[in-house]
Amino acid sequence: MSIEIDPSYEEPDVDGLDIAPDNGWDALYADGEWVSAGDRDAIEVENPATRATLTTVPSATEDDVDEAYAVAADAQEEWAERPPQERAAVVTRVGDLIDEYAGDLATLFAVECGGVGLKAGFETELAQNTIEVGGSLAMRRTGNIKESVTPGKENMVVREPAGVVGVITPWNFPLYLTSRVVAPAIALGNSVVLKPDENTPITGGLALAALFEEAGLPPGVLNVVPGYGHEIGDHFSGHPVPSVMSFTGSSEVGRRVGQRAVGQFTDPALELGGNNAHIVLSDADLERAVDAGAFGSFTHQGQECISINRHLVHESLYDDYVAALADRAEGLPIGDPREEGALVGPVINESQRDKIVRFVEESVERGATVEAGGDHEGLFIEPTVLSGMTNDMPAACNEHFGPVAPVIPFESDEEAVRIANDTEYGLSGSVQSTDVARARDVADGMETGMVHINDQSLNDEPHVAFGGVGASGIGRYNDEQILDTLTTLKLISIQREPREYPY
Ligand code: NAD
Repeated sequence: MSIEIDPSYEEPDVDGLDIAPDNGWDALYADGEWVSAGDRDAIEVENPATRATLTTVPSATEDDVDEAYAVAADAQEEWAERPPQERAAVVTRVGDLIDEYAGDLATLFAVECGGVGLKAGFETELAQNTIEVGGSLAMRRTGNIKESVTPGKENMVVREPAGVVGVITPWNFPLYLTSRVVAPAIALGNSVVLKPDENTPITGGLALAALFEEAGLPPGVLNVVPGYGHEIGDHFSGHPVPSVMSFTGSSEVGRRVGQRAVGQFTDPALELGGNNAHIVLSDADLERAVDAGAFGSFTHQGQECISINRHLVHESLYDDYVAALADRAEGLPIGDPREEGALVGPVINESQRDKIVRFVEESVERGATVEAGGDHEGLFIEPTVLSGMTNDMPAACNEHFGPVAPVIPFESDEEAVRIANDTEYGLSGSVQSTDVARARDVADGMETGMVHINDQSLNDEPHVAFGGVGASGIGRYNDEQILDTLTTLKLISIQREPREYPY
């Protein structure tokens, strides 16, 4: 494998982008101020394609977290009292600004998280859509009236903002995964303290703060504390101030965050890992199944919670499917994400690369065969297809989170469902068949939060419930589901006539 990085590409001055605040990104955002790094440690933001340092941002301390939660708590009540159309307008304006700064954002997606142009387009659209739906929730904070069993009483169930929302997000779709919580939270009258991932503090947090500031959000409603999870994560998730702790990331960290949140009676909303199966039944349209399989496995280097992690293919189609998928994998252009036409960029960092490479090597040691790819250079990993896989091999039983497609054969629909469910995760999945009723039976048997028939597992629509079961999380995001997560119900009853008490 040989990756040529075009020498004419200079590292962009990310501190000088139009979207950047006056003092660049080397600041926290709290109470509407860009607080300079001072003597805090620095987080180096690296371009994963070239390994060049793009800029530094401050590594927030526990005191910064306390301060951010305090100003968020102060700002929340007044923000919640603003009329809904005003809250909606600020959020909606952020969507418009994403359009205005799409060029800057595409640069940042490429150099901060290794996203190729296609991925930048997906992420921008996802962020805009979630912001539009999130903004609309401001007008939909409805309650209801319930008849009372007590004569002369009226029951009103009103919906209030939860209060302060703590948000922790990962690096893979940083702007989108952050926006899908921050936008509805703010529209509904909450305030937010956000800790973006240390790999993507700009697209995962500081850039969104700059957009909300420009959209006219009052100080303190959104605060951003970039920091290392292992340094401030426990303090952040076990803090007494927030009412909701929204976490998107790995199941391992999510379990810890959830436990710490519950210890403070904070409601955890956990969107975690996946080990998603793409099931190709014996009557599937092979070409369609392979097209979907390639897209679901290799988009953004397989670094999505809802990527296809395992391909389960009926034995009658197995050899043809493996050959066609290997062909597709070998044809995908690998390169610097800034290069037009590159479809596969680098993975995010060394530890992710090493983990992915290890899963492939250990699977081969256990008898799997590399049908395509298998090599890596720097943080670039070739799209890799593995045959002769069983579900207990490392590339199949772990969430590999890389451009790797392990293909496992099965004999019957029942066996496919059994293999698909043989994992602690239950996030997304897909079934390919020319008989939709048969595919529906298989989908019904899959223990996941989402299944897509005659498509692949990588789907997320802003108005459709998103989330998983088992180790894939607790709760659902998007539209009414996120509205429920980010608000609380209060019963107010009025006893209109004197009540007869027993004594
Ligand atoms: P990660 O869990 O390592 O990190 C996610 C976030 O948690 C980061 O901001 C990190 O700084 C923070 N963190 C780390 N340790 C912490 C601690 N002790 N306390 C509090 N926060 C801490 O996950 P990752 O490797 O960056 O992201 C990939 C994972 O995220 C995959 O498992 C993927 O499936 C999952 N993911 C899930 C969804 C979803 O919607 N279900 C979406 C995207 C990614």
